[in-house]
Order: sequence, then structure tokens, then C-alpha cells
Amino acid sequence: MLTPEARNKPVLKQEIVFAAVHLVPLAAIWTGATLFDWIVCAVLYVTRMFWVTGGYHRYFAHKSYKTSRLFQFIIAFMAQTSAQKGALWWAAHHRHHHRHSDTPADPHSMKIYGFWYSHIGWIVGPDFKKTDYKTIGDYAKYPELVWLNKNHYLPPLILATVVTILGGIVNGGSITETFSATGGLSTLFIGFFLSTVILYHGTFSINSIMHKFGNQRYETGEESKNSLWLALITLGEGWHNNHHYYETASRQGFFWWEVDITWYVLRFFAALGLIWDLKGVPKHIKYSKNKQHAQELRKEAEQQKQFA
Ligand SMILES: [Zn+2]
Ligand SMILES: [Zn+2]
Repeated sequence: MLTPEARNKPVLKQEIVFAAVHLVPLAAIWTGATLFDWIVCAVLYVTRMFWVTGGYHRYFAHKSYKTSRLFQFIIAFMAQTSAQKGALWWAAHHRHHHRHSDTPADPHSMKIYGFWYSHIGWIVGPDFKKTDYKTIGDYAKYPELVWLNKNHYLPPLILATVVTILGGIVNGGSITETFSATGGLSTLFIGFFLSTVILYHGTFSINSIMHKFGNQRYETGEESKNSLWLALITLGEGWHNNHHYYETASRQGFFWWEVDITWYVLRFFAALGLIWDLKGVPKHIKYSKNKQHAQELRKEAEQQKQFA
């Protein structure tokens, strides 16, 4: 039996903002919500989920493709509009998760610490607030990324402001309606805050649900699973067992039927020349059961080449 590490309980006053973000959408009971607000909510959920998975996760945590220094900053900025803290903070903790998956040192092991802790407990607890810059040294060498990581609240603040102004113009008919109940405020409550909350729990579900429910195609030595419906909700992250088996790939759906919308968008970005060197999945990995089997398949393929 593995002995869990001692983890501290949340300190309420540190979590007031996080709790408030969850409560703000309820203010729409007072303002009501327009069709425009709901459209903004849906669009901000989908686009920001892309930046969470394609940015925080596949770029910063796993370096699964390359890009320019400018676009790298844009990726970090866009990912941070999700209000899931700095890109370096996010990626460093995620690297720890892969290194220690479902062992006591895993920041959010569902198997060891239970559903609620893996879903949200580790976020609201005081133990994982700091960025481990050593673990993310390959990106922490860029001062602009460290600056953005420290000022992680800026991108969501800018997005919330833009969304509120837009709501004033579309709902209220004028920019002067930005802070009126029938103007921009309902867009802020539903368009920005509600989508931010759903986005939180969509992302968190990978840490909790995806280490418990679904199928395990590959023997990875931990509990990661694959699930189509979570892959749809999270734009491809539901192929979590694939991902734990071969984390360097830019794609998480390994087969054509494994829908991975993030991968399609990344391919599109590559076609535009914004990113490059996307990493695929080698055949011996794709068709193996575990790492040992993969080595056997690789050797077989090499021998066949020799005698061909
Ligand atoms: Zn990962
Ligand atoms: Zn995982």
C-alpha cells in the first residue's frame, strides 16, 4: 500500500477569488441573459479549451511542437485567458504529474488522494501554489514568459474587459451600456464567468475522471484511461491513456476514429507556418501493448527492412 504524502487543507482567504468566480454567473438571475451572452459562453469555452490543451499542455508541458518566440508568447497569453494561472506554473505541475503518475508524489492522483482532491483539492490547497521554475527551466529562460507567469491574472482581466464592452455594444446598443444590467454585465456573467467555470471543470476532469473511468489500451503502470465523450468535451484530451503511454506526441487520438480537435487545429496552424515539427506516433508505439512489446515490434520492423 502506498503511503500518501501529507497535504494541507485549503486556507479560505486564499481561495476567495476562485470561489467568487464560481458564484458570479449566479448574478445572471438579476440581469437575465441574451442569446449573444450564450454564444460568447460557448465560443469562449471551445476556443479557450483549445489553448489549454494545445498551449499549456501540448506545447509548454510536453514540447510536442516548435514555434517562434513571438508565437510562443501568444500561446502562453491565450492559454492564460482561461484563468488557470501562469503557463509555467501549469506546465511544471503537469510534468510532475507524468513523472510521478499515481504515486504519492503525484500532485493530483485520483487513486491515492481520491476524486475530490484530484479534481479540485490540490488546486485550492496551499501545497501547489508556487511555480517550480527548475522543472520548467527550458521555458523559464525567457523573461517575457516569467513576467506573464507572475502576472497571470492579466490575460483573463483583459478578456473579461473586452467581453463586457462587446456585450454593451451588442446587447445595449452602445459602448456606454458596458456596465449596465441590460448591456455588458450579463455578457460578463454568462459569456466570461460561466464559460470560465465550465472550462475549469472540463480541464480538472482529466485529472480526476480520466484516471478512473474509461478503457486502458496501453499498459502504462498507472490508471490513465481513454474515453470518447471526454475527448469530445476536452477537444482531444480524453485519449488520456494514449497520452500517458506516449506523451511526446502532438496528437492524443492515435487512430483516425479517435476524435482530437486540438490536433486538427494544430495541423491547421502548421499549414499556416505558425508552428512546426509536430510529433506523430511511431507505428511500433501505436500497435503495441506496453513498452516491452513496442521494442519487440520495433526490432521486427528493422529486421524486415534489412531482409527486404
Ligand atoms: Zn500530459
Ligand atoms: Zn494524467
